[in-house]
Amino acid sequence: MVDPAALSPPRLENLGLSRERPLVIVDVDEVLGLFMKGFGGFLAERGYDFRIDRFALFQNIYAAGAAEHLDLETGRALFNEFFAGHCGEIEPAPGAIEALNRLSRRAEILILSNAPPQAEQLRGAWLRKHGLSHPLILSSGPKGPITAGLVAQTPQRTAFVDDLLPNLDSVAEHAPGTATYQHVADERLRPLAPSAPERHPRIDDWAELAAAIEQAVSR
Ligand SMILES: [Mg+2]
Repeated sequence: MVDPAALSPPRLENLGLSRERPLVIVDVDEVLGLFMKGFGGFLAERGYDFRIDRFALFQNIYAAGAAEHLDLETGRALFNEFFAGHCGEIEPAPGAIEALNRLSRRAEILILSNAPPQAEQLRGAWLRKHGLSHPLILSSGPKGPITAGLVAQTPQRTAFVDDLLPNLDSVAEHAPGTATYQHVADERLRPLAPSAPERHPRIDDWAELAAAIEQAVSR
């Protein structure tokens, strides 16, 4: 199936992005912001445990003390409630703001987040609150098709950062000229997150990551 977003991706000029500088596309959850920590706190206030013992989302939500995880429908409802009302409360990932500020001196920054549509206002406000007033696109599904549609609009070098291997592989498939980097912000997730460093350098330290991206897009 062809992703409709790939057929008509937003125009860079409509997003306020220049074609004169490199383009760096950056994820939010577990890249710029500590989603698992924020969502875990939200769940704890409602009497649920968020157990990070595998790289999963809904399968990690338990009623306090329960042996079996919550049914996926209840987990999804909590997830949607979090994004509709509380995703503006997450903490920035350590070093992320400084790193993006550094990168934005040399490159255009676009935030590409797979969050439900009801998160748009809060997520945008969260970015601005932390001084990251870059354009935001909310998307869903693998990020390769929309990324391909965006990077095809600029002759400059491009880079893409995400925590999830399927998104990184999707971008490598659909936009092979784009440099891909994996960043996993939450220290508890780092040992659990599937990686393929031979395809996508894995750099969990934001200062190091910014330096690598800067080098890749300015060659
Ligand atoms: Mg993410």
